[in-house]
Amino acid sequence: MIDLSNRVALVTGGSRGIGAAIAVMLAKAGTDVAILYRNDTKSANAIVNMIKKLNRTGLALRGNVEDYNQCKFCVDAVVKKFKRIDILVNNAGIWEYGEIGRMTHKQWQKTIDINLTGTFNMCNVVVPFMKKQKYGRIVNIASTAGQRGEAFYSHYAASKGGVIAFTKSIAVELIKKGIWVNCVAPGWIKTDMVMPEYQNLKIRKEILRSIPRGKIGLPDEIAGPVLFLSSSLSDNVVGEILNVNGGSVLCG
Ligand code: NAP
Repeated sequence: MIDLSNRVALVTGGSRGIGAAIAVMLAKAGTDVAILYRNDTKSANAIVNMIKKLNRTGLALRGNVEDYNQCKFCVDAVVKKFKRIDILVNNAGIWEYGEIGRMTHKQWQKTIDINLTGTFNMCNVVVPFMKKQKYGRIVNIASTAGQRGEAFYSHYAASKGGVIAFTKSIAVELIKKGIWVNCVAPGWIKTDMVMPEYQNLKIRKEILRSIPRGKIGLPDEIAGPVLFLSSSLSDNVVGEILNVNGGSVLCG
């Protein structure tokens, strides 16, 4: 039912975890997919190979979303290769411990720069192309932390709260230009990012107790909602923050 043939997507942080699942699911729906990653070339190439096996074109681009010029270089490379860019998924992010009163300015800034400024950088570079096409879909990945806050991760929560406010703002700014902007806010998802905590039995129990569904989510369970927001099935959805968290945070 969802057919995104002839569409072109760029997924940041598409080499691993949630971003990799999004890239592959978009390819399954017919999209050619470029992924942006920072370090892990082996994983990025593996995802491109999976996209190719689905008879779609894949492209791995190495770059840091913190750096505006690198974002511009990557987007230019996508447009050069595919001649268009229909879907942008701002998924790249970090989640690092930081206790208030002890957090260094550098720790604070790194999280804000990657999670929030990185999202701005990519949107600011991609939007002119989407405006020219009179079509685009932007899906930003936030977090339950951005909705309800997160103790010992205040920089992360602030960055994701910023992504939510940024999403709502530009969604209204851009919808008349044919560009949809929405957000998915995941709860706990089983990826490398959270494995050190999830493997600790005591912490795992606490995590599972906080989720009414009683289980941690899987990357594909975020990719599905992103696919929906990338398709015409969500035409009347603008500036939405979609809770995808097993019931742990309900703010509709
Ligand atoms: P992950 O497994 O750690 O993967 C992170 C991805 O982002 C990797 O592809 C990584 O590339 C890339 N990346 C990190 N920093 C980057 C940068 N500066 N520039 C470009 N790429 C960068 O993370 P994940 O769990 O899939 O999380 C994906 C998104 O979901 C994040 O925004 C995260 O905050 C959000 N989220 C996750 C959870 C969860 O429980 N997992 C919950 C809520 C929200 P390299 O490997 O090359 O560094």
